[in-house]
Amino acid sequence: MSMPRTLRSVPDLVEAGLLPPEAVRSDIARVGERYAVALTPAVAAMIDREDPRDPIALQFVPDAAELLVRAEERIDPIGDLAHSPVEGIVHRYPDRVLLKAVHVCPVYCRFCFRREMVGPSGLGTLTPEQLDAAIAYIAARPDIWEVILTGGDPLVLSARRLRDIMERLAAIGHVKVVRFHTRVPVVEPDHIDSELVGALKASGKTTYVALHANHPRELTPQARAACARLVDAGIAMISQTVLLKGVNDDADVLAALMRAFVENRIRPYYLHHPDLAPGTSHFRLGLAEGKALVAQLRGRISGLCQPTYILDIPGGHGKVSVLSDAVRESDDGCFRIRDFRGGEHLYPSGSDAPATGSP
Ligand SMILES: *Cc1c(COP(=O)(O)O)cnc(C)c1O
Ligand code: SF4
Repeated sequence: MSMPRTLRSVPDLVEAGLLPPEAVRSDIARVGERYAVALTPAVAAMIDREDPRDPIALQFVPDAAELLVRAEERIDPIGDLAHSPVEGIVHRYPDRVLLKAVHVCPVYCRFCFRREMVGPSGLGTLTPEQLDAAIAYIAARPDIWEVILTGGDPLVLSARRLRDIMERLAAIGHVKVVRFHTRVPVVEPDHIDSELVGALKASGKTTYVALHANHPRELTPQARAACARLVDAGIAMISQTVLLKGVNDDADVLAALMRAFVENRIRPYYLHHPDLAPGTSHFRLGLAEGKALVAQLRGRISGLCQPTYILDIPGGHGKVSVLSDAVRESDDGCFRIRDFRGGEHLYPSGSDAPATGSP
């Protein structure tokens, strides 16, 4: 038998039985040409093929609904580009920066907030010169306490390259914490081997790994074992989840997911309201619906299991806690949002804004 491989196109998904044969001549094929597709063998194995609304399939198998772009959606929903002083760095808050060393992921999520930037035709990997300039930017700014590697998924890099980046960050005295945002422990658990785990640690620095997972079924025995290898090595883990219609917009599902994190020594961190990325409106709830759902978690599960419900304010104004008084519903159903600098922004009410057609 041949080794299972990553499925990277609509024809691959048809061959694997995850899409019907007609898909190659339908709008789904157009979606597959427009946005990156990838399902690792671990992800394909999680999908229940008998369930037409399988919550894993919904996250990764392209859907014709992605061709519908709504007026409020944006190419760069959280304003990365406006806050990028040098290639690969996003510097929005004084004490922390994003370092986007790579714009490739092991899987491509249909709701991805950076879907215009990641993928085989995206921005690729930083060149050695760009990486030097990004690290020099961090080294020159003593206010930068934390470096957050994201992208893309930084754990697609080899252990050797990760070790090189860690060693260079470790040489910067004012950087105390390095955080990696990743889906790899779930979607490619065997990749988390002892060499890679070792590469994520540097003496005198604290490493955090933020695991992106959206449904309790993603925490397979293999994924749990991969997380245990990280935590046993002294790496702290936190979670991030995107609130997604049809996938996890249910208090029981969210409760089971948050409990699964805690059982695996992963402290729930953020529950993200989905961003206004192009062609993702079929995943988006209204803020009022999200608030009602998250309120149900309070009494139901331990304080250890409570994530913070977060909205990244469109346009790059930073994150805000949806349940705080910085987010207020007005009479017209829109939301008025105050950013951390005191600026006011409007957020659309629900999913009734007009569509503008295909990309
Ligand atoms: C989300 C984000 C961070 C990290 O925010 P935390 O609230 O510290 O998790 C940092 N910089 C940018 C540009 C971000 O978008
Ligand atoms: S892993 Fe993150 S960056 Fe990569 S496709 Fe999914 S949401 Fe986008």
